[in-house]
Amino acid sequence: MSSISIEDLGSLKGGESVVIYGWAQEIKILKNITFIVLRDYSGTCQVTIKGNPELIEKASKLSRESVLKISGTFKKDAISKSAPEVTCSDLTLLNASATPLPVGITDPVEVDFETRFNNRVLDLRKPKNNIIFASKSKILWGIRKLMEEEGFIEVQTPKIVSSATEGGAEVFRVKYHEKDAFLNQSPQLYKEMLISAGIPKVFEVGPAFRAEEHNTNRHLNEFTSIDIEMAFSDDDKAMQMLELSVYQGLTELMDTMGKELEQYGYRIVVPKRPFPRMTYQDGIRILEENGISFNFGDDFSSEQLKIIGSKMDGFYFITGWPEKVRPFYTMQKEDDPSLTKSFDLQYKELEVTSGAQRVHNPEALIKRLKEKGLNPENFEYYISAFRYGMPPHAGWGLGLERLTQIALGIHNIRDVTLFPRDRTRVSP
Ligand code: ATP
Ligand code: MN
Repeated sequence: MSSISIEDLGSLKGGESVVIYGWAQEIKILKNITFIVLRDYSGTCQVTIKGNPELIEKASKLSRESVLKISGTFKKDAISKSAPEVTCSDLTLLNASATPLPVGITDPVEVDFETRFNNRVLDLRKPKNNIIFASKSKILWGIRKLMEEEGFIEVQTPKIVSSATEGGAEVFRVKYHEKDAFLNQSPQLYKEMLISAGIPKVFEVGPAFRAEEHNTNRHLNEFTSIDIEMAFSDDDKAMQMLELSVYQGLTELMDTMGKELEQYGYRIVVPKRPFPRMTYQDGIRILEENGISFNFGDDFSSEQLKIIGSKMDGFYFITGWPEKVRPFYTMQKEDDPSLTKSFDLQYKELEVTSGAQRVHNPEALIKRLKEKGLNPENFEYYISAFRYGMPPHAGWGLGLERLTQIALGIHNIRDVTLFPRDRTRVSP
C-alpha cells in the first residue's frame, strides 16, 4: 500500500486504511492504551494503539524521534482536536533514535546556542526552525523568477581566485598547488568581466567568503550573495532592479507561505514601492540634528545607522557615498569625484545590499587601484577584460541571509543559515 502524508489525511472521509511514515515525537504510555504523536514533513497526527498487547509492548520500548512506519485506519471524528487520528494495526521501527536527545523537538526549554548548533540537524527538525529554510528558498525563487523574466543569465564564477576582490584583511588564503590563492569575497570582478564577454545581464547566487574577525548578529564567514551586473546601465537602473528584486522575493514568500508563517509567529511585511532614497549627506544631517558630530568621508557606524534608520520606515536607499569608503571599481561622480555613483539598500540599521555604477575605462581603473594602494599587476586578468571595449555597467550584491532575517524578523543571522560559519565554528 502506498503511504499518505499527514497533511493529506485531512482530505479522507474516515475509515480508510492508511500507511504513514514519520518520527515518534511523543510517546504516551497509559494502562491499556498507548498514544504516539507522529510527525512527518507535513505535520503531526495522533496514533492510537489499543486492544493489542503485542503492539503496546512494542510501542512501550520506542524512544522519541525514532522513525516509524504505521499502518492503521484513519478516524474522522478524532478525540484529539489538534491533530488527525490513526488507529494503529501495525507498527514497524525503521530506525531507533539514540537517547537522551541533546535537543528536544517539542520541549519548551530552550537549550543554549552552542548545543543547538552542535546538534543542528535536531535543532532544524523543530518546525519553527525548519520553515525558515523553506522561506529562504521562496524568497530566492521569487528573485530567480524575476531575473528570468528580465532576461538575466544565471552564471557560476570561480570561488578560488588569485586576487582579493574587496582587498583588506577579510580574505581567506588557501594553498593552491604550488601557489597561494584566495576564497572569493564576492563575484564582483568576474561578473564585470562577463559584461565584456557579451552577457549583458548577469545574475549569480553563490557563496561569498569573508574572514570577518568580529562576532556580530549580521556577519558570517561564508554567506550567500545574490549578485547582478547589467551592461549599458547606471546606478539608478541598478537601484530600480534591486527594489523590484526585494519586492518580488518578499511577495513570493507572502503569497505562498504568509498564512503558514503566521501560525509560527512570523509576520511577513511586503514593502511599499518605491523605496525612499536619501543621500550620504542627508544621513550626516540626521546625525548632526541628533547632536552627533561626523567627519565627511567616514563610514556610518552601526550605532549611527541605528539613528538614521529610526527615521526611516523599513527599506531605504543611501546614495552617493564618498569614494574613500567604496571599493576601487566604483564610478566617481563627474561633478564631484569625492563622491561615487553608489548606493546601499538598508533596512533600519541593517545593510542589505551595496551597489554602484562601475568604472569602465581601463586607465581609470588602474589609477583607482593605485589610489587604493593595490597593485594593478595582481588584477591584470581583470583589467585586460576592459581593454577591448567594455560597456558602461552597474550592479549590486545582496546578502540572502540578511534579507531572510528581515523578512522573518530574525535577530541572529546564524538562525537563517543551515550550518553557519563564524569566528569559532566550522562544524557541523
Ligand atoms: P557590512 O558593512 O555590513 O559588513 P559590507 O559593506 O562589508 O557589509 P559588501 O561588500 O557591500 O558588504 O557586500 C554586499 C552585501 O553582502 C552586504 O550588503 C550584505 O548584505 C552581505 N554581506 C557582506 N558581508 C557579509 C557577511 N560577513 N555576512 C553576511 N552577509 C554579508
Ligand atoms: Mn556594503
